[in-house]
Amino acid sequence: SKYLKNVDREIFDLIEEEEKRQEYNIELIASENFTSKAVMEAMGTALTNKYAEGYPNKRYYGGCHVVDKVETLAIERMKELFGAEHANVQPHSGSQANMAVYMAVLEPGDKILGMDLSHGGHLTHGSPVNFSGKLYNFVSYGVDQETETINYEALREMALEEKPKMIVAGASAYPRKINFEKIAEIAKEAGAYFMVDMAHIAGLVATGHHMSPVPFADFVTTTTHKTLRGPRGGAILCKAEHAKAVDKSVFPGMQGGPLEHVIAAKAVCFKEAMEEDFKTYMEQVLVNTNTLAVELTKRGYRLVSGGTDNHLILVDLNNKDITGKDAEKLLDTIGITTNKNTIPFETRSPFVTSGLRMGCAAVTTRGFKEEDIKTMVEFMDYAITHRDEDLSELREKVTKLCRKHPLY
Ligand code: PLP
Repeated sequence: SKYLKNVDREIFDLIEEEEKRQEYNIELIASENFTSKAVMEAMGTALTNKYAEGYPNKRYYGGCHVVDKVETLAIERMKELFGAEHANVQPHSGSQANMAVYMAVLEPGDKILGMDLSHGGHLTHGSPVNFSGKLYNFVSYGVDQETETINYEALREMALEEKPKMIVAGASAYPRKINFEKIAEIAKEAGAYFMVDMAHIAGLVATGHHMSPVPFADFVTTTTHKTLRGPRGGAILCKAEHAKAVDKSVFPGMQGGPLEHVIAAKAVCFKEAMEEDFKTYMEQVLVNTNTLAVELTKRGYRLVSGGTDNHLILVDLNNKDITGKDAEKLLDTIGITTNKNTIPFETRSPFVTSGLRMGCAAVTTRGFKEEDIKTMVEFMDYAITHRDEDLSELREKVTKLCRKHPLY
């Protein structure tokens, strides 16, 4: 990085500052992770210089024979990792992967069933402020008020009544497993396409810790930077029959030149995800998240759905007399990074919220084990129950816990 330091001291310093922030704060944002040095190295390469509109061996530019090999490796590895018939590794992000699928088989105005944002869905699953809600006629399903989990029978009834062209499953803040086989049956019965957005759980799917949507869904979209631990980006898997439509929809439908440096990093990520180490990592993510759930419950915190069976939890703070916004801010002061989140049947605005979302993908990467999670919960609980006191000592304790597990 001697070049950057000489050319642009301001950006160099800010990158150093961010590296320090990541090193000395406990990262509990459920959608984040720390990529390997190998993934980062692939991203910072000369591949960023190459224009490669089109697909391997069908490009609109010369000089693509090397990036063709890079992209082909990424495609083949992703197909192998998830057992898919077709992969498109070009979407710049998860949102664009979703947009590409909608545009591949739907017309503006078509009806789609998607999970309500406040019940765990994503913006691109029909939020009125997002392109999805503006272009398509989204009808939302949510969780059951009693169990706070998806009620498949209610979803079935809704699907049969609404007759959507597509059903979208997958979520950003849903702590339970999703039965993709069951939703696929519902989609079939309703005559709808079935798309699964597995962005959050892609790592769990890769290691067999969550039911794979690939055998059951027409389309599976993902990000590569969450539990999968790759570079920031998106990707699409689909049945062979939809391959042409998906590829056309990504390019030229929605994007121009692919980011071949990021695609190279995706290829590295898929390779890493096939290794035994990654399975061990994912097991520890689940153990850590469960420990987080158990320890918080012991201290009187109410978890949406009563617990977790994936990498994240959603805490309902109503009985702790603090909003999600204030809890996020408070934990920030002691070096613990979380995000406020709406909970099902939320009564507050999305800027305030009653919930806090936390996940263990990132802390597990830096080596946190059960005992570290327990220590961390003690810190969080102390901060929340002694919020009017001076918490600077707690900030030092967080730094010490981070020092125990150096990031890189
Ligand atoms: N889908 C789900 C379920 C997500 O949680 C997210 C990100 O938060 C996305 C899609 C969008 O990904 P990106 O931020 O890369 O556009």
